[in-house]
Amino acid sequence: MSQHSVLLLPGDGIGPEVVGEAKKVMEAVASRHDFGIDFSVADLGGVAIDNSGSPYPESTKELAMAADAILLGAVGGPAWDGLPAAERPERGLLAIRADLDLFCNLRPALLYPQLADASSLKPELVAGLDLLIVRELTGGIYFGEPRGIEADESGLRRGFNTDVYDENEIRRIAHLAFQFARKRGGRLCSVDKANVLEVTMLWREIVSDLASEYPDIELSHMYVDNAAMQLVRAPKQFDVVLTGNLFGDILSDTAAMLTGSIGMLPSASLNSESRGLYEPVHGSAPDIAGQGKANPLATILSAAMLLRYSLNEDAAAKSIESAVERVLDSGLRTGDIAAPGESVCSTGDMGDAVVTALSAS
Ligand code: NAD
Repeated sequence: MSQHSVLLLPGDGIGPEVVGEAKKVMEAVASRHDFGIDFSVADLGGVAIDNSGSPYPESTKELAMAADAILLGAVGGPAWDGLPAAERPERGLLAIRADLDLFCNLRPALLYPQLADASSLKPELVAGLDLLIVRELTGGIYFGEPRGIEADESGLRRGFNTDVYDENEIRRIAHLAFQFARKRGGRLCSVDKANVLEVTMLWREIVSDLASEYPDIELSHMYVDNAAMQLVRAPKQFDVVLTGNLFGDILSDTAAMLTGSIGMLPSASLNSESRGLYEPVHGSAPDIAGQGKANPLATILSAAMLLRYSLNEDAAAKSIESAVERVLDSGLRTGDIAAPGESVCSTGDMGDAVVTALSAS
């Protein structure tokens, strides 16, 4: 029986509530699929500042480096908003991403047919939507040097950033994107601005060169302005979308909103050994924290991604995803996904229902 290690970082606000439900689901699925998980728990974010004075304590770092994968709730909240930028909870998140070299961000946008009415697009445009955005997370214009704001002799100020990728950075993310396309529908669309930006001319050239290693994958290229348009015009045309840090930031939020509810969206950030940090897309939702109102499904679906991409337990991941579908079919809804007038269940009820649905499979 294989044994995995998973570090839980519940974090702040609704984080502990949603991570608690995801842990229940992971325990249940592990016993059904005959593998074991050793869980450890550590502080990150505001709770870590309160308990030890740092958003990313050394003890958390040691556990993060040793774990096969990490499941995070969310960090931040009004209690820490007054701190200087360098001491805020979000710094903990940036530091752990850097430590683990998590360059590959995965943001699936999957619209459950049961929730098609929650999308801002017409149901026929989004029903059955299932796309994956692969975003480069540690390079590009967010990290490129030189950067800054400078004044010339006359006092006129100019702000500047540098969009830069080297061939190796492009190659390593593109390889992963081809491999994800292979596990899914076999289609990869690389998004760039190669008609204007040299950095993305190189991006397009490198991605095109790799295509010969993946003859089974249908590769296409699209300019980012067109991709933004196509995402809201006909989003179901996409399977896997590969792009850089800046374009990925914008397109992944657009794709997320096609699905209607922030409480349903998982994400993953991986390094070259497929170790990763998995987290819901939403934040710590201080407005509903501690009230049992949070939707735990984004975190439960993040746990499914963790099983698939870091622990190689694909069957268990599929079991969780099918259980979530069955729960939605049964009509159970937390407040964020309930139609007006529909009755609403608690965070714990939703987690319990997923556990029950697992054993019904
Ligand atoms: P948020 O995602 O926390 O909340 C936005 C709205 O969505 C709120 O009304 C909230 O109640 C609702 N919501 C969010 N998750 C939900 C869920 N699972 N179920 C039901 N409703 C849900 O965004 P925000 O209010 O802008 O940020 C709150 C705090 O979270 C801030 O401190 C912010 O910095 C932090 N944050 C952290 C992360 C992260 O940890 N990765 C990401 C985004 C924001």
